[in-house]
Amino acid sequence: MTTRLHGIGMTSSRTRLRMIDRLRAQGIKDEVVLAAMYEVPRHLFVDEAMASRAYDDVSLPINYEQTISQPYIVARMTELLRTASRHPVKRVLEIGTGCGYQTSVLARLFPEIYSVERIAPLYERARRKLRDLKIHNVSVRYADGSAGLPEAAPFDGIIMTAAAPEISAVLKEQLAVGGCMVLPVGRQEQWLYLVERDAYGYRESRLEPVKFVPLLMGKA
Ligand code: SAH
Repeated sequence: MTTRLHGIGMTSSRTRLRMIDRLRAQGIKDEVVLAAMYEVPRHLFVDEAMASRAYDDVSLPINYEQTISQPYIVARMTELLRTASRHPVKRVLEIGTGCGYQTSVLARLFPEIYSVERIAPLYERARRKLRDLKIHNVSVRYADGSAGLPEAAPFDGIIMTAAAPEISAVLKEQLAVGGCMVLPVGRQEQWLYLVERDAYGYRESRLEPVKFVPLLMGKA
């Protein structure tokens, strides 16, 4: 599958290690997350014309006005999911499958992933990609994820990869006690938020400025 790209070195361990070193320098500490990101072939999730930039720390277009998130934010959000949760994370909901890259990183770390995508061709492509990569612990759904996925709730972790104007009460309710949600919030100015649920309620922390595509609401 990767032989042609191997020839020009894009899948070389050196290229990927450079990305991992950069993530470390940017403050990612969780070695388990770093190992997963080393292993997932990011270049296979972007158009061939852009494959040479796949390991740079940039977001790249995946058509339909959507993007594959930059490696740093994928690492950061995944690290938060792993470390902020009070018990081992088993079941994770991702809202915004996109090309399926973040999904694939999650699939290496957690046993059961549900991922919701609202744009049909992206949903189809991501499903095919995950199947080609033999990733079998992900259930991809074509739906509006702003309502979460009540039939599979509660989740130990929820990650949203598009920005909503505010933190949704519906999603908070789908968190298991002890679980956490990581999401970008805001319109022009966006912040990464961590929402933790315990037996007494929710704690919301505003972490750092981010830039995501807006969450699309309503029927596709
Ligand atoms: N995690 C992705 C990032 C994709 S960009 C990756 O690694 O590539 C955000 C994605 O969220 C887009 O694919 C967009 O179509 C999707 N999206 C936006 N609003 C949505 C909604 N209401 N429900 C589900 N997906 C949504």
